[in-house]
Amino acid sequence: MNKAERIQIFQDILAIKSVNGNEGEVTEYLAQLMAQHGIKSELFEERPGRKSIVAELGAGTDPRVLGLSGHADTVTVPDESKWTYPPFAGTVIEDRIYGRGAADMKGGLAAIVIALIELQDAGTLPAGRVRLLGTVGEEYDAYGAKDLTARGFSADLTGLIITEPTEGNITYAHAGALNYRVKSYGQTVHSSTPEKGINAIYNLARYVTAEQTLFESVPVDPALGKIAHSLTIISGGDQINSIPEYAEVAGNIRPTPTFSNHAVIDLIQAKLTELNQIDGVKLELEVIHSFLPVATPKNDPFLRFVQEVGTRYFGKEPVLQVELGGTDASDFVMKNENLPVAIFGNNSFGTSHQVDEYTDIKSYFALIDSLKEIALSYFA
Ligand SMILES: [Zn+2]
Repeated sequence: MNKAERIQIFQDILAIKSVNGNEGEVTEYLAQLMAQHGIKSELFEERPGRKSIVAELGAGTDPRVLGLSGHADTVTVPDESKWTYPPFAGTVIEDRIYGRGAADMKGGLAAIVIALIELQDAGTLPAGRVRLLGTVGEEYDAYGAKDLTARGFSADLTGLIITEPTEGNITYAHAGALNYRVKSYGQTVHSSTPEKGINAIYNLARYVTAEQTLFESVPVDPALGKIAHSLTIISGGDQINSIPEYAEVAGNIRPTPTFSNHAVIDLIQAKLTELNQIDGVKLELEVIHSFLPVATPKNDPFLRFVQEVGTRYFGKEPVLQVELGGTDASDFVMKNENLPVAIFGNNSFGTSHQVDEYTDIKSYFALIDSLKEIALSYFA
């Protein structure tokens, strides 16, 4: 494929609005494109209009399976008028391509598909199998990755690259995410006789206070550090002169491999059990979403391998780094705990989710060329 074709494909999928939905239009486009080059793919409609895509390339004589994954959804554009270039046009200005998803991460997704097509067209097939995992809903609750995991597409992977934007660096560890709610049940009475009721807000406040120091003495992760935790939404009561019978607070926690999701949940639950000993207190935990932290040992040969290839195409040695933000890998590792994961992608991570999001075209090409070599050399 020539440079113009590589850019055109990127522009085409940037022009498709797949803001928290409608990923099917993106993945159908990619399926048709691959079909034109003789690569079969399968679409899975996880929810109406939201289709994940899976495709494979390779001779299959080597039993290993390398996963290459990206998501087809983007975050919203709150105010289009603030953009210098329209967010759904894929405008190219010098070495930059602009649009919602340019960095996070339609470039990364296009790069995988183009790498597979170019290998197929050249007749240079990987000895094992290289599997594209194109997901939906990553920016919401990662249910595309969840569904592909449930269908078994991650269980047999022996290596995984997620092409989220990393400036050509390699993220080898990221925190998990735990969204939860604590519900407080009381008993309503007229506010002139509060002693006859149970104030759900007062009881919820016991947890709100406790949470501030709850994680103070949990083990610190050598790579990711302390657990980040916050209470972020609170509500309760519905009448100013009635004792509230219900109140709730929601929070977000970033578990680490050292103090992972189960440990976090156990700690919260233990605190609630303790508070529930107090007369009248009834607090309940609800886990909304639980994503695991991901960490590949820093000395894993897979990371070294991706680093070596990346050095050749990005013109610098990729730095091994950690991040707090999550990826689809949290779900893929559920059925494949020791899977080595490298998050490795194009430039301009800093513009993700921002006005005038872009990626530079040089790094987009570097990613395509890196992936082609990785797909072949991984099995060498
Ligand atoms: Zn992303």
